[in-house]
Amino acid sequence: MRFLTADKIYDGNTWLPNGTVIGVNDTGEIVSIKNYNQIGAEYFEGILAPGFVNVHCHLELSHMKDVIPENTGLIPFLRTIPAHRNDFSTEQKKVARHAAYEELIRNGVVAVGDIANTTDAIDLRERKLMHFQTFVEAIGFTKANALKCFDYALQTYNEYSKQQIEGTIIRQSIVPHAPYSVSASLFGYIGTPIGSRIISIHNQESKEENEFYESRLGGVCELLAGLGINYNEFIPTGKSSLQSYGEWLLPDCSLILVHNTFTSREDVLYAKNRFADVHWCLCPNANLYIENRLPDIRLLHNENSKICIGTDSLASNHQLSILAELVTIKKAYPEFSWEILLKWGTKNGAEALKMSETLGTIAIGKTPGILQIKNLGNSNLEPVVNRIV
Ligand SMILES: [Zn+2]
Repeated sequence: MRFLTADKIYDGNTWLPNGTVIGVNDTGEIVSIKNYNQIGAEYFEGILAPGFVNVHCHLELSHMKDVIPENTGLIPFLRTIPAHRNDFSTEQKKVARHAAYEELIRNGVVAVGDIANTTDAIDLRERKLMHFQTFVEAIGFTKANALKCFDYALQTYNEYSKQQIEGTIIRQSIVPHAPYSVSASLFGYIGTPIGSRIISIHNQESKEENEFYESRLGGVCELLAGLGINYNEFIPTGKSSLQSYGEWLLPDCSLILVHNTFTSREDVLYAKNRFADVHWCLCPNANLYIENRLPDIRLLHNENSKICIGTDSLASNHQLSILAELVTIKKAYPEFSWEILLKWGTKNGAEALKMSETLGTIAIGKTPGILQIKNLGNSNLEPVVNRIV
């Protein structure tokens, strides 16, 4: 047993009374939360908080760190990824993704929503230091290739679902990559969720995505033409992407909308009305890297949207750190308290990945991991995180 206390303790929802002591057993399970000074309690400078949940990452792209320049905009970024993702040897990819996995652990991440186009990340799940919700992406723009593309994703999904591991949570589902890369037919196949019922999608990451749905004009046309994809059969809806493809998904799925850089108030209201369970995953450092723009986070917050946090991949981020994402939001939106921001990085992430029975809050019976965070709110020093349980 260990007894832990700190200057302040955040439980995933709020600050606990000063002097609270957390009792943790050898397996990391929280067995007591008491509001008195326990003799022999370990004291930590700064705050204690539950482990971070990274709702959106692509560990299999970790070898692409520093390959793509910043601020190109999404369309050139998307052209560059397939052109370079296989310029690396199997060994180089493996070394990079394992280093990225270790970086996540060092930065206090206890669970990850990991996007997979390949089976590369199977070896990461075997390491059992972090929980995984693997999102196997389906990509395919034409009606003719929809079933073939779905079958390809299904094969990858089957490899992940065969994996048997005890001690950590490993789950998987098939998800659409993005509105501009998935046809209505392929959305239809994905719409009947296989595996865990969580659908994650890159949503409104560029203004070109909305433009394509509204009028079939703009940069997405160039992207698709450049990939040799005939998009003539696509009929513009006159509505934003979210308000269009939302109709092709079942309203009872659990939906994670990732990025939301060009999401309007009407889109937020539409999603809340259409889907019972929506989480809005923000990856601000990736947005700054690619588009040099942040989503309207004030709007999302004012509409009581459930916000959670991801890092995206090292192809579009300098580090994999939920704390660094929160610091970026705090700089742009100083009005958000750390109480709110930390909730996005812990409790809300665990809810988005359907892991809140185990993670996200400091509560008796849970094993959320416990972090020490120093320098939070100190304008002179960068916050640092250290996993202590
Ligand atoms: Zn992504």
